This record gives sequence, structure tokens and C-alpha cells, in this order.
Amino acid sequence: MDGAAEGAAAAAGGGGGMSHKECVDGINKSLAHPTVKFLREKMENAGCPVWPRLLTAITCKGQSSAGGYASGRGITICCNHMTFQDEINQVIIHELIHAYDDCRAKNMEWTNCAHHACSEIRANHLSGDCHYKRELLRGFLKIRGHGQECVRRRALKSVQNNPYCSAVAAKDAIEAVWDICYNDTSPFDRAP
Ligand SMILES: [Zn+2]
Repeated sequence: MDGAAEGAAAAAGGGGGMSHKECVDGINKSLAHPTVKFLREKMENAGCPVWPRLLTAITCKGQSSAGGYASGRGITICCNHMTFQDEINQVIIHELIHAYDDCRAKNMEWTNCAHHACSEIRANHLSGDCHYKRELLRGFLKIRGHGQECVRRRALKSVQNNPYCSAVAAKDAIEAVWDICYNDTSPFDRAP
């Protein structure tokens, strides 16, 4: 889903963003990334193949979003907020987890704060968005428990950006689904 939280890495990178062509090349390159390949394979097995045309390079308004996913529209990558190949890989992995959830659940409702919260917890946890090296770059490092705190912070920001979820509803939704969704690492055996 679109979200301010998802742009933190891009914002921390500074820079003026990539040209459209660099970005499209970067998206094509990311298709060979092992985690991207793994997720595409799992989606195909689940009956939702991911074609390169489902990944769209766009220019985003606003400072902080890095990408988005919407049912039927696919994945968008905010090229003007991308500086490094690693950022493109990261956005695509995060959004593919949303796409996987959408495919798997069949009755996924993005307007439902609990559904959205669950998918954000999983996407932030499983994509490596909260890997300690990325957190260090953002200036958020704590030695103990930083991973969960990071997932919680970023998921909350994204759900709060959902027009159907108030700040309080977003917080409640994250708490309500936390244990189940943080521990649900499908399609990975464990958090990569
Ligand atoms: Zn997300």
C-alpha cells in the first residue's frame, strides 16, 4: 500500500531520484533478485502470476512514498524517490508481499484496518525493511528489540495513511493482529 513509512529509506538516501530509464532498467534488474524471484514463483504457484508489466515506474507526488500496491492496478515504484538499485529491490519486495497477501486471502479488503495492518506488519517484517543496517541509516538504532519496534512504527505509519483508518483505529488494528501477523512468515519458512 502507499504509505509515508515506505518512503523512509528513499528519503534517508537523499539525492534527486533516478531518470525514468534508469528506473525501468533497475526494475528489470530487480526481477533477477533472488527474493523477488522467490516471491514471483510463490505467487505463480498460488495462481497469481506477476508479469513485468504489473510493475510500473511512476513519478510520485509527496515526499515520502517509495511505492504502492493496489488490487487490479499492481505495483508502482516512485522513480523520483529512488537513488540506488537496493532501494528498488526493497520496494518491490515489500509490495510483492502485499500482492501475495492479496492473492492468498482472496477476500482481502484494503479498506479494513485490520487486513491492512496485517499485511503491513508482514511486508515490513519480511522485506528486510527493518534490517538493522537500514535502521542504522535512518538513525533509529537500538540494540535490543529494534526489529519489532521498527516493524511496528512503519506499519503504523502506513495504516494511518489509509483514509479508512483513523490514528486510533490504526493503532488498535496493529495491536489486535500483531502476534498472528508478525509470526506469519508465509511464503518464507522464517523471516529472511
Ligand atoms: Zn506497505
